[in-house]
Amino acid sequence: MPSPQLPNSMAARDVAHVLHPYTNLVKHEAVGPLVIERGKGIYVYDDQDKEYIEGMAGLWCAGLGFSEAALVDAAIEQMRKLPYYHGFGHKTTGPVVELAEKLKAMSPLPVGKIFFAEGGSGANDTLIKLIWYYNNARGRIDKKTILSRIKGYHGVTIASASLTGLPANHKDFDLPIARIKHVDCPHYYRFAQDGESEAEFVARLAKNLEDFILAEGPDTVAAFFAEPIMGAGGVILPPKDYFPAIQKVLQKYDILSVSDEVICGFGRTGNWWGAQTFGYQPDFISCAKQLSSAYLPISAVLVPEHVYETIRENSGKIGTFGHGFTYGGHPVAAAVALRTLQIYEERDMLGHVNAVAPRFQTRIAKLGDHPLVGEARGIGLIGATELVADKKTKRSFAPTAGVGAACMNFAQEEGLIIRAMGGDVIGFCPPMIITESEIDEMFDRFERALAKTMSWVSQQGLNAAA
Ligand code: PLP
Repeated sequence: MPSPQLPNSMAARDVAHVLHPYTNLVKHEAVGPLVIERGKGIYVYDDQDKEYIEGMAGLWCAGLGFSEAALVDAAIEQMRKLPYYHGFGHKTTGPVVELAEKLKAMSPLPVGKIFFAEGGSGANDTLIKLIWYYNNARGRIDKKTILSRIKGYHGVTIASASLTGLPANHKDFDLPIARIKHVDCPHYYRFAQDGESEAEFVARLAKNLEDFILAEGPDTVAAFFAEPIMGAGGVILPPKDYFPAIQKVLQKYDILSVSDEVICGFGRTGNWWGAQTFGYQPDFISCAKQLSSAYLPISAVLVPEHVYETIRENSGKIGTFGHGFTYGGHPVAAAVALRTLQIYEERDMLGHVNAVAPRFQTRIAKLGDHPLVGEARGIGLIGATELVADKKTKRSFAPTAGVGAACMNFAQEEGLIIRAMGGDVIGFCPPMIITESEIDEMFDRFERALAKTMSWVSQQGLNAAA
């Protein structure tokens, strides 16, 4: 990695001028950034031309990898024709209409309308507002509390960061806001009680949810947000029958459900939607990331017909539906998203994911035998290993020990970019175009990194008895 000390290097200029998202800013001044310059397929290259497998598809998003010419062409063509327009006040553009039609055709729910925003946070923020607006419009003015889950991730705006159930997103930001409350995380490995079966765990979570709703007052609880697989919280898969059990409770109290498909949407779990993989039948969907393979920022909210009807009538009374972003439904982003979805179909991306996923999952599962790995988990082309100090007791390393970060750095040395999350969880979510031999190469590199991590942990005396 180039030293940030080198005067006028890109790294030094970055340290001097850029405020980095999700970065330890003190450490950043010492170590500087990795400067990524170009990409090809599943690989990216730094400014020293070192090659890395992008094991996280960037931020779980570049489904078609880093050099898809057809998406570049779609962007250029639309740029030349009409580089910008908007949808305010009865305007529209062709790409937005076509993308809405395409998303409706792909949707697992009876969708009435599609609303476009720029990213996942904006989509989830929009949903909170839509749900409040909807409940006001139908006279349920006290039904406003929104539930999400501990370890869920839904974004960083004031409302979506409040939905997010991770301490770093709340601490010192004065969040979460009132009306957004968190319920149990469905991670069986971490939160099951001694001797509790998976079915008993699910029943307990459903009962806890019901108790929570009753304590809040069912007439005050409006909606429940969930990712089919919790991504940034640590690639946490729901136990079997979790969503049907939870939804039974939600339906009993007229509580709307949202599937945040920002990571899981568009094939990642082996179906178009993560909700389909886990028997979740939400009222709303938010999606982004792989919607455009991340080539341009765009997100979408899928709104059911009955909700749309109520919102429509209310906008007529108020005079407008007072919500929308300058860049929501940007025509160039919409053209790229449309082309992305066409490519997924033309190249049978679902078929590809399901063909290579067994290799990916076999390699993940094999990591479960490693002495540092407490749990290896995944489905489709997403997975994680959770590194622990003691496999038998599941004891985690102290957060300050930085084991996950060390493993991520060793992986980088080996030419692999992965993500270390809280609790020393290492995530894998490569571009969906990855081949079987590339999957092997990715895990070979990771195994070398894990061996280095193991030696480092021993040198530091971190896996000694607590
Ligand atoms: N929802 C989920 C499930 C996400 O993973 C993310 C981002 O990683 C978001 C929402 C927020 O999206 P954005 O960063 O585009 O605002």
